Amino acid sequence: MNSEKANAEDKSLENTSPRNFLEEIIEEDLNKGKNGGRVHTRFPPEPNGYLHIGHAKSICLNFGLAQKYGGLTNLRFDDTNPTKEDVEYVESIKEDIRWLGFSWDDREYYASDYFQQLYEWAEKLIKEGKAYVDDQSAEEISRQRGTITTPGIESPYRNRSVEENLDLFRRMRAGEFPEGSRVLRAKIDMAHPNMLMRDPIMYRIIYAHHHRTGDKWCIYPMYDYAHGQSDYLEGITHSICTLEFEIHRPLYDWFLDQLMDTEYRPRQIEFARLNLSYTVMSKRKLLQLVKEGYVSGWDDPRMPTICGLRRRGYTPESIRNFADRIGVARRDNVIDVSLLEFSVRENLNKRAIRRLAVLNPVKLVIENYPEGQVEYLPAVNNPEDPESGTRPIPFARELWIEREDFLAEPVKGFHRLFPGGEVRLKYAYIIKCERFEIDPQTGEVCTIYCTYDPQSKTGGATANRKVKGTIHWISVAHAHAAEVRLYDRLFNVPDPDDVPEGGSFIDHLNPNSLRVVSAYIEPALAEARQGEHFQFERLGYFFPDYDFTPEKPVFNRTVTLKDTWAKFAGK
Ligand code: ATP
Ligand code: MG
Repeated sequence: MNSEKANAEDKSLENTSPRNFLEEIIEEDLNKGKNGGRVHTRFPPEPNGYLHIGHAKSICLNFGLAQKYGGLTNLRFDDTNPTKEDVEYVESIKEDIRWLGFSWDDREYYASDYFQQLYEWAEKLIKEGKAYVDDQSAEEISRQRGTITTPGIESPYRNRSVEENLDLFRRMRAGEFPEGSRVLRAKIDMAHPNMLMRDPIMYRIIYAHHHRTGDKWCIYPMYDYAHGQSDYLEGITHSICTLEFEIHRPLYDWFLDQLMDTEYRPRQIEFARLNLSYTVMSKRKLLQLVKEGYVSGWDDPRMPTICGLRRRGYTPESIRNFADRIGVARRDNVIDVSLLEFSVRENLNKRAIRRLAVLNPVKLVIENYPEGQVEYLPAVNNPEDPESGTRPIPFARELWIEREDFLAEPVKGFHRLFPGGEVRLKYAYIIKCERFEIDPQTGEVCTIYCTYDPQSKTGGATANRKVKGTIHWISVAHAHAAEVRLYDRLFNVPDPDDVPEGGSFIDHLNPNSLRVVSAYIEPALAEARQGEHFQFERLGYFFPDYDFTPEKPVFNRTVTLKDTWAKFAGK
């Protein structure tokens, strides 16, 4: 058991916001003086994949609850299945938890740390006639489990003597039998209404190299046998897990009741896992997306993985706020992915530096602006942060503007540029469109010719003259080329897991989830650094990709500004 004692007096119960049911349970336990006032949670990932936003929810809960009540949280890798696990995953999981802003200090544990103890406890159960070696295959055993309404069939090996069981189990461990030839089962009740209690498998033979224990073991405990005892050994007070484990709880309790004679028990509490619309969350499916090349890797910015969200430009705060905002539920539900997008937008609005970029450029020439003249006009770095000041942006006769900001034949309500119309160029002058030219090859507008009102910039006589639209721009001579990656949802239906017989979630992939465009950016953006968040005015929030270099700037769009997607991305 862990010796750390969190002081019950320290717990900050002054917070008067409504409590969720987990907090109610913890406070009830604290008020009763249970566990000497300790609160100790754990986050128990299986290192068989990268963490996703669902795990982030669980991390925020486990670490958040411990923080709130002056307790501790362990990181425990549930590494009981050597065939699927990898150190690569261990390292990524640690990096992601740290990035989210949580610390397990030195309490980094592994279920494999307990293999010897778990083995000894298995022998104890055998000696007490509560476990037996079954010579049948796992498939055969599963066929004999019965159904919810009919009892299972007892194995012909169920009534072996203690001596024979002990001998066989030791020989299993010694590597005398082939993989899959025998298992150790708990002897509980083949007619139990809870199917998990029908003599569940405790150990199986696997000849695989384990990322920590190497080749020391060739029998491995099942998760159901390891989990409760691991919680017990670590002195976990509140073992918070998702709803699918509710039905496993009687089995965890059964093992602990057979093995431990203390009053202390970890208290398991279940909550509804996070499901997000337009998203798949199962690690198996995420692995399939990676392995079959539908995405560029676990950290593809379209993935719901923490590393994918990080690369896309999500901030730890935005994910923590999201986890807070959605709260905890006792029943399965689906959260709208737009709530996650809202959280990052809200966070980035405060901190992102404003810059100008043009994603779909068309050339604009101001015919009455002197050739060769360049003016540097001050542009606001962040209106949400007065301290951030301004930067000078170059203005000249030839500009790039967004193609969507010009219409040769304006429709009703279109307040941007059209022949004869006026708009303000952000941070600069009012211009009037005189005419335009069409590229005979493509049939598209290629140059727009305008005149400008020299008095209309800040400080000028007509600076306050009102026009209906304001558009952004970049000086052609000063623009840097950049690659910009625009993302849409990875799936085109709200529930990608809902597929007809014979179908696959793959069928629901959105073929347009990634669009790469060649954009023009203002000079200051070529000096962007990794980790800086930007708002490209009117276009959304953008984040330098890992592929970014000053010679070839590459940005990911984290999220659009509200309601601008339809207007600017041609969707
Ligand atoms: P997956 O189903 O995606 O493969 P898992 O449950 O097998 O995930 P684990 O590594 O076992 O993944 O999960 C570690 C912890 O994260 C567990 O406590 C689990 O309950 C929790 N968790 C996993 N997915 C979610 C989710 N979608 N919402 C909340 N918690 C989750
Ligand atoms: Mg799991």
